[in-house]
Amino acid sequence: MAGAARKRTPRNRWLVLRRSKIHGRGVYARTDIPKGTRLIEYTGERIGNAEADRRYEDDKMRQHHTFLFILNSRTCVDAAVGGNISRFINHSCDPNCVAWIEGQHIWIEALRDIKAGDELGYEYEYDFLPGYTVEDLEFYGCDCGSRKCRGTIVDVPRSQRHLLRELKRRKRARART
Ligand SMILES: [Zn+2]
Repeated sequence: MAGAARKRTPRNRWLVLRRSKIHGRGVYARTDIPKGTRLIEYTGERIGNAEADRRYEDDKMRQHHTFLFILNSRTCVDAAVGGNISRFINHSCDPNCVAWIEGQHIWIEALRDIKAGDELGYEYEYDFLPGYTVEDLEFYGCDCGSRKCRGTIVDVPRSQRHLLRELKRRKRARART
C-alpha cells in the first residue's frame, strides 16, 4: 500500500529467520538459549473451526499449510494473518523446542539448551485421523533430517506403527531409484 505506514515488528532477542535446510525458511537461535527459555508467543488471528476449514481445505491444496495452530476444540490460531516469526518454526521429530498452550495463548519454549545458529523445531503432533493411509502420512511428510525422523508430522499411535514401517520402506525404495 503506497504511503501506508509500515508497522515494524520488534526484533526477537532469541530468534532469527533464515533459509532452512529442512523446509523453505526456518527459525534459528540468534544466541545460545538456555533450556526452559520462553522464546515467543505463537500469534495470529483467532478463528473458529468452520472458518479454518473454509480457508484451508487440504484436499484442494497441493501442499498442506502449516500456519494453523489448534488452540482448543473450537478455536484455531491462523498465523497467516497477524502472525510473527514463530510461524516459520518447522516441525522436528527430535525437537529442541515445545509449544505450550496456556489459557488462550500459545508459547514456544526451549526444551533443552540450544546453541547459537541451531535451527529450532517443535513437534507439530498432527492428529492421526481414523482411516489415515500411508498416502495421508506422505502428504504430511517430514524430512527433518534427525535420526529419529518418523517420516511424517502426524502423531501416529502405536497401534498404527505398521504405517510408519511402510512409509520408511517406500522412502528407501524412492531413494534407490
Ligand atoms: Zn522428521
